Amino acid sequence: MPPKHPKHANPTSSHRTVLLWHRTDLRIHDSPALIAALALHPTTFIPIWTWDPHYVYHSRVGPNRWRFLLECQSDLSSSYTKLNPKQKLWVVREAPQTVLPKLWKAWGATHLVFEKDTDAYARERDEEVIRLAEEAGVEVVVRSGRTLFDPDGVVRRHKGEPTMSMAQLRKAAEGMEVEGVLEGVTRVPDPWEEGRMDLGGLEREGLVGNGGGDLNAVYRTGEDTEYTAGVMGPKGDFGVPEMGELGIEDSVVTTPHRGGESVALRVLEECVRDEEYVGMFEKPKTSPAEFEPQATTLLSPHLHFGSLSVRKFWWDVHEAIERRKSRKKPVSSVPTNLPGQLLFRDMYFAAQAALGYRFAQTEGNRIAKFVPWHLPSNYSGKEHRLDGTYTVDDPQAEIWFRRWKEGRTGFPWIDALMRQLKQEGWIHHLGRHSVACFLTRGGCYVNWERGAEVFEEWLIDHETACNVGNWMWLSCTAFFSQYFRCYSPITFGKKWDPEGHFVRRYCPELAQFDKKYIYEPWKAPIADQKKWKCRVTGDGTSDKDSNSGLTAYPKPMFDFDERREFCINQMKHAYKVNLHGDDPKVMDGSWKDIFDFEVKDGTVLEEANQTIPEDEDEDEDENPPHKRQRETTEEENPASDEPHRKQKK
Ligand SMILES: Cc1cc2nc3c(=O)[nH]c(=O)nc-3n(C[C@H](O)[C@H](O)[C@H](O)COP(=O)(O)OP(=O)(O)OC[C@H]3O[C@@H](n4cnc5c(N)ncnc54)[C@H](O)[C@@H]3O)c2cc1C
Repeated sequence: MPPKHPKHANPTSSHRTVLLWHRTDLRIHDSPALIAALALHPTTFIPIWTWDPHYVYHSRVGPNRWRFLLECQSDLSSSYTKLNPKQKLWVVREAPQTVLPKLWKAWGATHLVFEKDTDAYARERDEEVIRLAEEAGVEVVVRSGRTLFDPDGVVRRHKGEPTMSMAQLRKAAEGMEVEGVLEGVTRVPDPWEEGRMDLGGLEREGLVGNGGGDLNAVYRTGEDTEYTAGVMGPKGDFGVPEMGELGIEDSVVTTPHRGGESVALRVLEECVRDEEYVGMFEKPKTSPAEFEPQATTLLSPHLHFGSLSVRKFWWDVHEAIERRKSRKKPVSSVPTNLPGQLLFRDMYFAAQAALGYRFAQTEGNRIAKFVPWHLPSNYSGKEHRLDGTYTVDDPQAEIWFRRWKEGRTGFPWIDALMRQLKQEGWIHHLGRHSVACFLTRGGCYVNWERGAEVFEEWLIDHETACNVGNWMWLSCTAFFSQYFRCYSPITFGKKWDPEGHFVRRYCPELAQFDKKYIYEPWKAPIADQKKWKCRVTGDGTSDKDSNSGLTAYPKPMFDFDERREFCINQMKHAYKVNLHGDDPKVMDGSWKDIFDFEVKDGTVLEEANQTIPEDEDEDEDENPPHKRQRETTEEENPASDEPHRKQKK
């Protein structure tokens, strides 16, 4: 179809001003949207990023992910400058729904190009942008490239249903090809000259502020100037923001993991160069306790921000596997191999594409088994959407949730993982299994949505489809139903890391403990605790033992065996009642009568980032407060994401 001319441009002009709107595609290599933009033969080409208040204020994002994003943007901007010294990533500070119409008017845009995004908010946003572009006569070009298969295509082939297993995904995708990697780009056209690019006089109106709420306020210790200096930013140059512009100190960034396409390509190259690693990769055999280096690729944050093309990942791995096969060397297979991991990602994207907003919440979600967890979410509006708050129905559950989040449950395996998550923004898949099971059906009996929110805040690879999908899996809400298989917070870690290196690294207060006690420090004799310079006492609100002056590590917050039994019984009951999120009883709250659900103090939590105040009455009891932990606990099969396989040794 020939491009329509914008109302404000000269219709007889052959000038083509193409805006490439980057979102989750922060790369030059294998970018279908970039190639489509260049195929329009632009006379003026402007690659932009719109800094959207929705993500700045209304999504949970911790400092580590912000920094990762800024690094991806800076790297992309430098790559553009290398291709054409007049180019860069032009970062504008305003919501796309309001700023894009101003941009295409000021810059006389004829085309807007972007990569398809099937996340629920992104879909609504893009529909609105497409409507506005049509009104203005700007032609919109959309290309798929974020997943192996277009999620909407998969849903269509799956008769509109969400893909709930690897088998369903593979069947639905039968006959769909993973597109080959596109030719590299060697040159990009110029933007307008400096004077025309200048948007200093642009009116500030529309969605620019936090709209009355800021889920990330806790991190903003400085002044948030993101939207005060105009769309071109504080230096008036459309530059990539620094952390300070968001009101967040650089010093609170603690992740060692770096963003950017160059980093991603280097990591992928190193992985595929190790043919044995790639060819024999079996997820269940990778250790959640390994660090520096970790046992899996850690390419997930790059896939999230699009600093790595998922198709390049797929094909590079595929070639390495084929090379091995041609030499008759053994290779691992789907679903535990690397292509299998990427297929899981596509499975969750397609499930989300089928359900939209409802995928990420219990109410209204037809795939979510209803379980009356503690700390349920609050919903608002006609559409019953999560409103970002939850009800504290049980103060004890709230305390356990906070202790879980802060890595002071008194179970070193869980605490080490949660501290790694907070510090580094990434933990191994089986580590995620352990902490997710512990918070929900294998310990605390807290709503999976609370855990998903913490992951949303802290993961550098947070991806709604994968995060929500996996939380539903681990909590036996959807995708997986063997709720009687729980991870032990003691034996699971011990199996992978009998010496306790991982725990010593992330819970340094336990560094000197003998390996006999590293997963159950409360069992160590007091004399040994003193010798090893750490007393197991209190609830973790104080990091010193006031009696001895030694470092303190908390006592376990509950008896795991008791809690496991309690949770299994609750799950058994919920499965018997068999309500789903879209059941009228769930939607109108009458489920409370069926389950005798009681709100103990009625508090509605407004803000999820506070920490628990120090407990003045710290328990100084020298003896472990709870029964002995059972030595072995039936664990959920960590052999694969397939629920029925047995663990391979
Ligand atoms: C409770 C929970 C929450 C999770 N939240 C997220 C999330 O927000 N974002 C995210 O990308 N992954 C999430 N995962 C899935 C998985 O843990 C991570 O993708 C993986 O650990 C990332 O590390 P890696 O890149 O080294 O993975 P690798 O093992 O090297 O796998 C390669 C790629 O495959 C994809 N992948 C692997 N496993 C899965 C899976 N189970 N589901 C979906 N994709 C997968 C990822 O894109 C990953 O980068 C979650 C898992 C659990 C149990």
